[in-house]
Amino acid sequence: MHTLLDLPCPINALEPVISARTLEFHHGKHLQGYVDNLNKLIAGTEYENLSLEDIVRQASGAVFNNAGQILNHNLYFLQFAPKPSSPAPTGKLLKQIEGQWGSLDAFKADFVAKGIGLFGSGWVWLQADASGALSIAQYSGADNPVAHGLKPLLTFDVWEHAYYLDYQNRRAAHLEALWGIVEWGKVEERFH
Ligand code: MN
Repeated sequence: MHTLLDLPCPINALEPVISARTLEFHHGKHLQGYVDNLNKLIAGTEYENLSLEDIVRQASGAVFNNAGQILNHNLYFLQFAPKPSSPAPTGKLLKQIEGQWGSLDAFKADFVAKGIGLFGSGWVWLQADASGALSIAQYSGADNPVAHGLKPLLTFDVWEHAYYLDYQNRRAAHLEALWGIVEWGKVEERFH
């Protein structure tokens, strides 16, 4: 049985970047819905006792979509903090970003541009390959780096349910605001 992730902070703690009302729907309704759907879909099947990562690697169709959305949202919600103790990357991750993009600001601009440019519903990801090389990917629907054999580091959800109550059509403004709540220590843990 898969269960709903506990949010790492109170539901209003990420305001004004992400409002309590958005989280009530995004976490309490959308993510809960994916969890309920997946549990129904996998009961009595070969996927019943697999981890989310293994389901994402092996399944297709509705099972893939619901498992992928749970995995994506779990990584998404756990990477934020109201007052990040690590508001910027350091060490190996910073060095790699600077080596590939020139500066952290140039990386952020590229990441947001790819989030804005993703047509329809999906996720923009910072991902790493086995050698530690980074890339930014635009994945539609529930797709994610794990399905492509890559390591997921950081993600911004560009499904409208992630921002429409607070930002309506202003996806760019929402994505820019998210930088203020990224807990880069979490991203660095995923990179190691
Ligand atoms: Mn979402």
